[in-house]
Formats: sequence, structure tokens, C-alpha cells
Amino acid sequence: MAEEKKYEVDFRELKALVSFGDVVKHYSIELDKVSDVESRGACPLPDCNGKRSFTVNFQKNVFKCHSCGCGGDVLDFVQYKNIITLKQAGQYIVDNIKIVPVFLEDKIATPQSNEETEDLMDWREAAIASTKLEIALLEQLLEMKHVLLKQLLRGN
Ligand SMILES: [Zn+2]
Repeated sequence: MAEEKKYEVDFRELKALVSFGDVVKHYSIELDKVSDVESRGACPLPDCNGKRSFTVNFQKNVFKCHSCGCGGDVLDFVQYKNIITLKQAGQYIVDNIKIVPVFLEDKIATPQSNEETEDLMDWREAAIASTKLEIALLEQLLEMKHVLLKQLLRGN
């Protein structure tokens, strides 16, 4: 029986979140920059011997190989590269290429931000407490001064 996954893959979300930069890094694909947005190199796909046929447009987040004719988005690339289905490609990206689906990030991020808020609250409370302590000490000093003055006045 297949291992139960604790999340579903949202393909549209994945495509928006995963850049070809992540993919290129993950597969250690060597590319030469040909313009501000485009890089070119040997096609990393199986059974393709294209030497400089593989182009990635980082702005559009798509690839194209003029030798094997493959092209598409990050999910298409992972499908061709690993010879797997779309669903498997989505899962592969989630498991191996940096990405945590947004709704999961929210769940992870929420306790962190709570902690931060709590820290801030603690800090504020500590600041208020120390200010209160200072005021109390000042009041005590003033009271002592007052008592001393009274004593001095009485003494005279
Ligand atoms: Zn190719």
C-alpha cells in the first residue's frame, strides 16, 4: 500500500512557487546566460543529446529544448526529467525541491509568529514591570527624603 501523504499538491500553486532557478539548482544543470532572462545549455533530459538546445526563460518560468522538442513549465520539466506523471512530479517537487505548499507554511508560520508576539509581550511586560519597580523605588526614596525632612524640621 502506498504511503499516505499528509498533504495534497496544488499544481497551480506549485508552478507559481517553484522557479526554474530552484529546478536548475536541484538538478545541477549547467547553463550559460544568454540574456537577462534566458540561459542556455546542454539538454539534461533523458535520451536527448542536444548540446546547446536547452533554453530556460526565467522570467516566463518555462523551458524549451530545440533538439528533443520538450518544453513547458517546472512540472513538465520534472515529468520529462524523472519520467514520471504530473502528480508524481508535483509530489517530487514538494518532497525534494524546497517547496512547502502555502497552506502548510501558514500552519508552520503561525506558531512562530505567536511566539514572536509572546516574546514581544514578555519584553513589554518586563519593561513595564521594571519601570513600575523604578517608580516604586523612587517613591520610596521620596518618602524617605520626606521622613528625613520631617525629622530635620522637628529637630529644629
Ligand atoms: Zn532536449
